[in-house]
Amino acid sequence: MDEALLSSLNEAQRQAVLHFQGPALVVAGAGSGKTRTVVHRVAYLIAHRGVFPTEILAVTFTNKATEEMRERLKGMVKGAGEVWVSTFHAAALRILRVYGERVGLKPGFVVYDEDDQTALLKEVLKELGLSAKPGPIKSLLDRAKNRGEAPEALLSELPEYYAGLSRGRLLDVLRRYQEALAAQGALDFGDILLYALRLLEEDQEVLKRVRKRARFIHVDEYQDTNPVQYRFTKLLAGGEANLMAVGDPDQGIYSFRAADIKNILQFTEDFPGARVYRLEENYRSTEAILRFANAVIVRNALRLEKTLRPVKGGGEPVRLFRARDAREEARFVAEEILRLGPPFDRFAVLYRTNAQSRLLEQALASRGVGARVVGGVGFFERAEVKDLLAYARLALNPLDSVSLKRILNTPPRGIGPATVEKVARLAQEKGLPLFEALKEAEGVLPRPEPVRHFVALMEELMDLAFGPAEAFFRHLLLATDYPAYLKEAYPEDHEDRLENVEELLRAAKEAESLMEFLDKVALTARAEEPGEAEGKVSLMTLHNAKGLEFPVVFLVGVEEGLLPHRNSLNTLEGLEEERRLFYVGVTRAQERLYLSYAEEREVYGRTEASRPSRFLEEVGEGLYQVYDPYRNPGPIPPPHRPKPGAYKGGEKVVHPRFGPGVVVAAAGDEVTVHFEGVGLKRLSLKYADLRPA
Ligand code: ATP
Ligand code: MG
Repeated sequence: MDEALLSSLNEAQRQAVLHFQGPALVVAGAGSGKTRTVVHRVAYLIAHRGVFPTEILAVTFTNKATEEMRERLKGMVKGAGEVWVSTFHAAALRILRVYGERVGLKPGFVVYDEDDQTALLKEVLKELGLSAKPGPIKSLLDRAKNRGEAPEALLSELPEYYAGLSRGRLLDVLRRYQEALAAQGALDFGDILLYALRLLEEDQEVLKRVRKRARFIHVDEYQDTNPVQYRFTKLLAGGEANLMAVGDPDQGIYSFRAADIKNILQFTEDFPGARVYRLEENYRSTEAILRFANAVIVRNALRLEKTLRPVKGGGEPVRLFRARDAREEARFVAEEILRLGPPFDRFAVLYRTNAQSRLLEQALASRGVGARVVGGVGFFERAEVKDLLAYARLALNPLDSVSLKRILNTPPRGIGPATVEKVARLAQEKGLPLFEALKEAEGVLPRPEPVRHFVALMEELMDLAFGPAEAFFRHLLLATDYPAYLKEAYPEDHEDRLENVEELLRAAKEAESLMEFLDKVALTARAEEPGEAEGKVSLMTLHNAKGLEFPVVFLVGVEEGLLPHRNSLNTLEGLEEERRLFYVGVTRAQERLYLSYAEEREVYGRTEASRPSRFLEEVGEGLYQVYDPYRNPGPIPPPHRPKPGAYKGGEKVVHPRFGPGVVVAAAGDEVTVHFEGVGLKRLSLKYADLRPA
């Protein structure tokens, strides 16, 4: 094992792994083994430097990356399971769960996701009698929190009126929002790091203890750390600064979340004496793909030059497909995937905006190809799952009025809006939390039974809330007859929804307590859902593709207005970030890279002509080929040709154009197939490229 830790590395990687104490920066291009170097370094510290696993922290950018790193470490060195591998948010939350009371947090504090945050903002706006939309205010809040600044500090950057509110009014809203959060014992996502930072800044004892648990710190994707994460890292690292930061300034793509590539550019000033390691060999992509990628990124003016050489020579040319419209583009992607064939999890389709996924999902589904949208509407954001989670949150934290309102009448129990109004007024008059007001509301309600039942139910659940998560949910389902409600409320897809409920129970089983379970949920709500990626095409935005790799990548919508996105065209910084985004997308591909654009696309409901991205022009035609499989099939592998008699009837099949179907009759070379949504087709086995499904 010792040997393997170093021998599977190149010289530069080895140097970085052998780095022991003091600060280090590993700065290198995409696919050069930065993440791999971190993994090996952690293992090496444990195996050869006598460092305890419980003294090591490795920060990753996403939950998915956390899982992958844990998985890989486990196989490499004993005790690796105890290394603290975590995102910034999860690390901060863990600190707050242990020491949060020292910064005034209640033990059962909850974390609000984006929906809850919006719901609370709406409440605040209503309370103040304002009709502004919560969206822009939410992004203002997030921006302030990511920068670690009071919202007041941002106001001066805003126009006189923002979101239809004057600065004064806006400030009222922001303050009231923060008060309401505190009153409900809740943190929003941005607060997690801010509270943790404050705690470490103000409490020397806690800082000392956490530093013990993080004597050796690693931060992957360092180019995308925001100011709060930067301060958090710097504070934890302390004077000793056994900090290894790893990143690529050319892949900084989160400036909209206040990430700042300066953190990486100034590393050697921030941490005097830091050693810098450069990795220059790319192990991920073929030469053809890498040359294309390098040609993209040299166009950025605001960058440091780096060398990146391919280890894999040659390779398939990068291909560009011109589609008439987005539908044709989606069809192309789906058919090309079918043509190349399973396993489908080797494919990824990347796009600039979430909305682009719908046509792609449909095109794949209609051909019987499984797909999953990474980072889309996640499992924990589904209505039925959120309902049950709201019960759990309220049971742990009776102050949480956002959750309370969600479930007060779900399933329906005869508590109408008039009742809620009355109770809310009572709460305000008496200065009580909503749940307390419910208990006292009997006197003011004409029909108090439903409220009484609800309170009794919640009190029962509160007793269970400190036990195992699964038992809690089982009781909840029984006590509310929730499955029956689903059947009633969603006659069309209640089975799917019930399955989600089952999945929730399965997930809950793995947690030690309800509290731990909710924390996990709060942190993963934005990432992927549980369940299998196996055998499925991955669809995701370019932002979500960071750090990942796939044998075959389709990058769609390479058009002016989308990539670069129209909102980023006005400044050089904006445009360069779009170029980095393109670079990130291109460098995800290992073997094959397809680009595509549509000559016409719907924008805000109108069909508009679109032009290919300037990024394509910049690269020059020598580095890619225009690909048109409809006119010029090129080196396409022969279609699948079953022998006559291969089908007898009843078999499930897939056709590249008609999608999935069932054979209903067969005679010699001819079969008749019923395709879903298409109808009956008579096909020749010799020509039809029909495959078993
Ligand atoms: P990104 O910038 O996209 O995050 P990265 O620099 O973190 O990329 P890795 O993901 O660590 O790169 O590595 C890219 C691929 O190259 C991985 O499949 C990895 O296993 C492989 N690789 C890295 N170094 C070596 C090596 N020395 N020998 C063999 N394979 C390697
Ligand atoms: Mg990486």
